[in-house]
Amino acid sequence: MDAAEFRKRGKEMVDYVADYLEKIEKRQVFPDVEPGYLRPLVADCAPQDPESFEDVFKDIEKIIMPGVTHWHSPYFFAYFPSASSFPALLADMLCGGIGCVGFSWAASPACTELETVMLDWLGKMVNLPKEFLAEKDGQGGGVIQGSASEATLIALLAARTKIIRQVQSEKPELTEAEIMGRLVAYASDQFCATLGTTSCCSFDKLLELGPICNKENIWMHIDAAYAGSAFICPEFRHLLNGVEFADSFNFNPHKWLLVNFDCSAMWVKKRSDLIGAFKLEPLYLQHHHQESGLVTDYRHWQIPLGRRFRSLKLWFVLRMYGVKGLQEHIRKHIRLSHQFEHLVLQDERFEICAEVVLGLVCFRLKGSNELNEALLKSINDAKKIHLVPCHLREKFVLRFAVCSRTVESTHIKFAWQHISQLATDLLKTWEHNHHQQ
Ligand SMILES: *Cc1c(COP(=O)(O)O)cnc(C)c1O
Repeated sequence: MDAAEFRKRGKEMVDYVADYLEKIEKRQVFPDVEPGYLRPLVADCAPQDPESFEDVFKDIEKIIMPGVTHWHSPYFFAYFPSASSFPALLADMLCGGIGCVGFSWAASPACTELETVMLDWLGKMVNLPKEFLAEKDGQGGGVIQGSASEATLIALLAARTKIIRQVQSEKPELTEAEIMGRLVAYASDQFCATLGTTSCCSFDKLLELGPICNKENIWMHIDAAYAGSAFICPEFRHLLNGVEFADSFNFNPHKWLLVNFDCSAMWVKKRSDLIGAFKLEPLYLQHHHQESGLVTDYRHWQIPLGRRFRSLKLWFVLRMYGVKGLQEHIRKHIRLSHQFEHLVLQDERFEICAEVVLGLVCFRLKGSNELNEALLKSINDAKKIHLVPCHLREKFVLRFAVCSRTVESTHIKFAWQHISQLATDLLKTWEHNHHQQ
């Protein structure tokens, strides 16, 4: 493919994606395929001779789409949202075009510098304490990780190195292995201090945990993967109170801030803690600018060496939506989750299982776990909407997460009527079977 064909095909692809997203509502949200569906549809090995774009393009609808779960359908209410917006899609296209690998400042200065500034922007949007910002001469700063899981692992490794060095300086007779063997990590069943747990979006009490961590010299990492985006709204910012006690913090703009996967934002108060843990300087990665002290080399802030130009997505989205546009998006989702909550509360057969704070509603039929498992199965078998469950204190609970950028009140009403009808059908046969036994 030469540049002339790329121009043509690029426009066709943009049209295809725009059509896909514009008409996504018409597609069944969950696919009909069985495991292993794809292998028989494609060749056994890569083609020896090149194929045309048309050959590949026509297989998208034939081979790929039948096996796609449509995360951006307004009938998708599973997991947590996966962010998507047109500005982010365009930025990712540019990222691919530039195609740099920004492991050091010199590897592509714009890639590093835009990321540092975007993380400052984002940090200010959620009103993080100043210590977390890089600004011109701060000790903190932010970095984009691929996922919240990576951010948590990075925090754990940095904390470990930091405390080992500290103990070594006080007790030089101890080896690293001896110190390592005595380290303790404190966690709940959700792992670290969490704002908006995955199962039911509950919030740890940072104002109680934080002072204890600080007093006992324990590294405190806070994971707000989903909930973090809501803190850009002043009325939800209080949920982040206590972050001032933390050493590191992360949330996922790729969940709820309209920045397509992957973009997990992580901040530390002392970037020297990260760099101290991960610094690696072979000669081929050294650069004369390092002597100035002004240079960030993000390879020291992460597990991989290579990294994409992901801050472009943030830059496009933050500028083209503005803080106000993003606040509107968050508020709409939270309004819709309360709409669903009210519909559930009006039906005496159902109960709400956790306080609805943001865009997630946990609910169930009053009755056994088996009954609720059967309800979820009938919902997901019908494939008109898609939900996933969770366990809350041994109870099987259905999670209804407001996800799609384009979801509206009518979709919420439809989803509830559908669930309510399936419950009616289920309860008829359930009571009948129960009676016979
Ligand atoms: C979604 C979620 C994660 C995992 O996010 P990844 O970025 O996919 O690793 C971690 N923690 C919480 C609280 C989450 O909701």
